[in-house]
Amino acid sequence: MYLSPAYEITCPSCGQFLRGKVRQAALLVCKSCKSVILDPHGTPVLNSAPAVIPLAHPFIAIGTQGKVNKSSFEITGRIHYTYNDGFMNDWHIVTEERKSFWLSESFGHYALFNPTPEPETVITDTHFEPDENSLTLNGQTLVYEGSDSCTGFSFEGELPINPFAISYPFLSLNYSNSQILACAHVFSQTDHKIYSGIRMSLEQLSLTSPNR
Ligand SMILES: [Zn+2]
Repeated sequence: MYLSPAYEITCPSCGQFLRGKVRQAALLVCKSCKSVILDPHGTPVLNSAPAVIPLAHPFIAIGTQGKVNKSSFEITGRIHYTYNDGFMNDWHIVTEERKSFWLSESFGHYALFNPTPEPETVITDTHFEPDENSLTLNGQTLVYEGSDSCTGFSFEGELPINPFAISYPFLSLNYSNSQILACAHVFSQTDHKIYSGIRMSLEQLSLTSPNR
C-alpha cells in the first residue's frame, strides 16, 4: 500500500514533478537534481546548497514500505550521521494515519522513536555528568554508554525537520530495560534532551522494497 501524496510541486530548480507524503514537511530533496527545497508544502524555497546524498543502505530505501503495530507505513527520508566512532541512520516514517516516527539504526541495531520531532523528556540536571554512569528518570535507570559528537551528515528524501539546524554533541544512554533504547542530545553541561525508542528487528517491520 502506497500512501497517497499530501502535496505535489515542481522543483523550482529543474522542473521535476515531485510528490510529498509529509504534511509537515520541512524539506524535500529533488530526486532529479538533488536540490533542497525548504518548506515544500507551504512556500517552497530553494536552499543555496544541494543535498549530499548518503550511500544507499542495503535494506532500506526511500519508498520502502512496512508495518508497525498493524499500521502500514512508508519511508519518506533519511538522515545519515557520521561521528567519531562510526555512523548512524535515522529514517523518517509516515504511517497510514499520517503519524511520524523515526527508525534509527546504529551498528545493525534498530529502534523506533516517537514522536517527531519533540523529545520525550528534557532534563536540566546540574548534577548529571557522564562520569556518573547512570541516571534515574521516571523510575527507570539509564545507563551511560558513551559520548560522541556529530562530524557530518547527509540526507535524502522528505523530512519533517531541517537537518541543517541539527546541533551536537550527544550521549548514548540505555535503560536497564533492554527493549528501550535512549539517546540524549546535549545542549550544554546542564541541559539534555532525552529521546527513547523501542528496539526493533527488521523482521518485525515486514519491509517491502519499493522495487517489488
Ligand atoms: Zn530538481
